[in-house]
Amino acid sequence: MVTQLKSDIAGLELPELEQALVDLGQPRFHGRQVFQWIHKRGVADFGLMSDLSRELRTTLADHFEIQTPSVVRREQSADGTTKLLLRLADGKRIETVCIPENPSGSPDVLDADRLTFCLSTQVGCAMRCAFCLTGKMGIDRNLTAGEIAGQVRVLVRELNLTDHRFNIVLMGMGEPLHNYEETMKALRILADEYGMAVSPRRVTLSTVGVLPALERLATEPVMPNLAISLHATTEAQRDLLVPINRKYSIEELLNTCRRFPLKRRERITFEYVMLKDVNDTPDDARRLVRLLTGIKGKVNLLPLNEAAGIPFERPSDAAVNRFARILSERGVTVSVRKSRGRDIRAACGQLITESSRDAAPGRRLAMAMSTQAG
Ligand code: SAH
Repeated sequence: MVTQLKSDIAGLELPELEQALVDLGQPRFHGRQVFQWIHKRGVADFGLMSDLSRELRTTLADHFEIQTPSVVRREQSADGTTKLLLRLADGKRIETVCIPENPSGSPDVLDADRLTFCLSTQVGCAMRCAFCLTGKMGIDRNLTAGEIAGQVRVLVRELNLTDHRFNIVLMGMGEPLHNYEETMKALRILADEYGMAVSPRRVTLSTVGVLPALERLATEPVMPNLAISLHATTEAQRDLLVPINRKYSIEELLNTCRRFPLKRRERITFEYVMLKDVNDTPDDARRLVRLLTGIKGKVNLLPLNEAAGIPFERPSDAAVNRFARILSERGVTVSVRKSRGRDIRAACGQLITESSRDAAPGRRLAMAMSTQAG
């Protein structure tokens, strides 16, 4: 007999799980119990689902498995950021990060009251942005909904965060709108009240702007917050920095943003990686203001996280502040992202599966110290 690969029950939304039970000749209502065991209580063994009959547990185990990414390595940054290197069922590796929002300087992540989970949506990335390490790898494959939501289960278990509130940003490896179906399905699994119950309002989807997918996102009944990786103020410059711009230009992207349905007080975040002497001039700042006219948006400046292999430099704090001032003086809300976890290469754009194994200890220490300075 050929052994069939069992499918991953953790990748099913509740209605799918209920249907699967019906297909097995079981009552639908057990779906909620199973979903709760997996997603709310983090149980990865049917045998432990004590309120199900022995027969049902055996039937489930015959047909399904509960896939959970396994932790290959855990790295802790001086600022409290934790990065997990995870291995998926097929041996592929991804990284997922937990960032404390208000670290007391103590490395104890559990003290921080607000946490952000930074999840990956693909193994690698196809977008090849010029300053991003993940982009250098190219794309390997999409993650399944189970693998995307599974990162949350692993973070909660590994960091003892049961019942802890957290936000989610889809800013790990990959382009979420290049893996639309599974990403949106993962968000529905995470939002389910019988599971983690993470409201989409606590989720931010960050994208380079894959336009057809962005237009589709605008029609979703429940939507995450939106962040757009803009990074440039002229088409020529963005063509080079964010190559998908050659297909979906700044002009089209911003027109789509103008039409994007936002509720009262909601705003689109425009991310802007700052590269020394490339896109950090006062002219760039003024052009950015003009581009965003008429859009309910705010700007998040991301001074480049430098890494070997990235052919750009981080601008000085003075250049970043000058840029920020030009925006705010013209009425654009602006913030500067603090780099978190740079010493363990867990900062934005630094996620690659090889991780920091090859970083020399001296360099890592130097980076840890510069992280402290913000
Ligand atoms: N594919 C999504 C998510 C990527 S990561 C997107 O592009 O939006 C989230 C943010 O980190 C993006 O804005 C990305 O451009 C930015 N980023 C990538 N490399 C970076 C680096 N080296 N330093 C700072 N930010 C970087």
